[in-house]
Amino acid sequence: VAGGCLSVVILGASGDLAKKKTFPAIFNLYKQGFLPNDQLQIFGYARSKMTSTELHNRLRGYAQPMKSSCILYFLLQVTYISGPYDEESGYVKLNEQISSAEESKCGTTCSTRRLFYLALPPSIYPIVSTMVRKHCMNPRGWSRVIVEKPFGKDLTSAEALSSELGKLFTEEQLYRIDHYLGKEIVQNLLVMRFANRFFVPLWNRDNIANIQIVFKEDFGTEGRGGYFDEYGIIRDIIQNHLLQVLCLVAMEKPVMLTPEHVRDEKVKVLRAVQPICDEDVVLGQYEGYKDDPTVPKDSSTPTFASIILRIKNERWDGVPFVMKAGKALDSRKAEIRVQFKDVPGDIFNCKKQGRNEFVMRLQPSEAMYMKLTVKQPGLEMKATQSELDLSYQQRYQDVVIPEAYERLILDTIRGDQQHFVRRDELRVAWEIFTPLLHRIDEGKLKVSPYKQGSRGPKEADELLNVKADYVRTEGYIWIPPSLK
Ligand code: NAP
Ligand code: NAP
Repeated sequence: VAGGCLSVVILGASGDLAKKKTFPAIFNLYKQGFLPNDQLQIFGYARSKMTSTELHNRLRGYAQPMKSSCILYFLLQVTYISGPYDEESGYVKLNEQISSAEESKCGTTCSTRRLFYLALPPSIYPIVSTMVRKHCMNPRGWSRVIVEKPFGKDLTSAEALSSELGKLFTEEQLYRIDHYLGKEIVQNLLVMRFANRFFVPLWNRDNIANIQIVFKEDFGTEGRGGYFDEYGIIRDIIQNHLLQVLCLVAMEKPVMLTPEHVRDEKVKVLRAVQPICDEDVVLGQYEGYKDDPTVPKDSSTPTFASIILRIKNERWDGVPFVMKAGKALDSRKAEIRVQFKDVPGDIFNCKKQGRNEFVMRLQPSEAMYMKLTVKQPGLEMKATQSELDLSYQQRYQDVVIPEAYERLILDTIRGDQQHFVRRDELRVAWEIFTPLLHRIDEGKLKVSPYKQGSRGPKEADELLNVKADYVRTEGYIWIPPSLK
């Protein structure tokens, strides 16, 4: 791998994200040879008192099963440094260790690379970033900084954070990670839409009745209710992950696939999203949410939301985009469901069979399928609904689909910002949701209770059917390949 010595510094290395996602992603890149393995060093930094060996032992359990010698070599590159976030001494020590490792690995003249990953609560981003900027910048090559959501709680706080970070780092140095942009099916969206003649002429208001972008979890907050309660499902999932997906579903074709051209188009479509009205919103909270000891007893934070976004432009005027997300529901999935309009002049009485749908399932088990009407096999001329199916597990049996974090960390090392959120994009995303979020915070919207393991409040289906013109297929039965 070209490019010189690479130092990856994970600040907040003692935390949950670092252990479950960041370190394992770097390890996977290492074992597949995507990193300069003999010129790589990884530093974990946090306040917790711990030795490097203790950190290694924590990480071992999260590395995917493999030859033990590989994880051993990897862990040899990982050093833990304990230090405060708000005092210069820790960062001076960190910088000394990075520099001396750089020197021993590649001498004093080669160019080097430094990647800082902020796996920390956002409240301390400003102080940590200030210290990194002051003491740890790379004098011999690039320095890049990955920051994790949440990027603020509303427009004002997000802008304040952006301007603080903006004073320290250029936009080219900042990588705002939204791991949905690293998911296989999300990365496939532009290819599907713009490389297939099937879709090009159909992807618009003339043919599409409605689009759903859905995230469902079949478990609740599970002890992390304290964090969640401050944010709620809209800030946690919809304003960032689902809105990023919406951008890729709805944007115009970029001039070419450079990060700036793609992100210009994303910003453009976001600017066409109309203010959200209360009648287009259903909120819910699952029964038992407040039993979590970390959640205030009087909390009205929504754990479920279904919101119709309306895009006023030539392509989408009149097509409802339903953004639905919830916890403690009947199933776990994330999908995009594009429903087409009825066929005009229906001679087969197809309405009974249902509308065409194109579904892209992001998780679990990546798949894309088209629900369409065909002749029921047999002697009778009867139409029925079936599917054209691309299930990744069947179609790509020897391919390991990379974790979103792997891909995005590799992009950062390569300097490709296409799958990261630009500052102006973040601003428009907050502009769309902030007025609604403030009305919710002020208690102006009803939050309906729903049972754990249900499909959420019944009002959500009414919203879907009545206000979004969604017509559910009756009688469609899916037979998984293993049962065929
Ligand atoms: P975390 O475990 O709560 O915090 C990471 C580390 O930060 C902790 O080990 C702790 O290290 C330090 N820390 C925690 N609270 C602090 C405070 N109030 N003041 C100073 N230091 C504090 O967080 P995480 O789950 O790893 O998440 C890190 C970031 O990623 C957050 O912004 C989170 O929103 C985001 N994120 C997390 C996930 C996930 O799956 N966990 C997913 C998406 C995004 P020391 O005490 O050792 O210094
Ligand atoms: P579906 O599960 O029937 O859902 C279609 C829509 O109807 C969704 O908006 C869903 O809401 C809603 N809905 C589900 N149950 C409802 C109910 N009882 N009352 C009112 N609305 C309801 O989706 P599908 O695409 O037709 O697929 C059916 C099953 O086949 C799914 O389990 C799917 O995973 C499977 N399938 C898999 C593949 C594949 O793996 N390749 C291909 C085709 C089908 P929610 O979003 O809240 O669920």
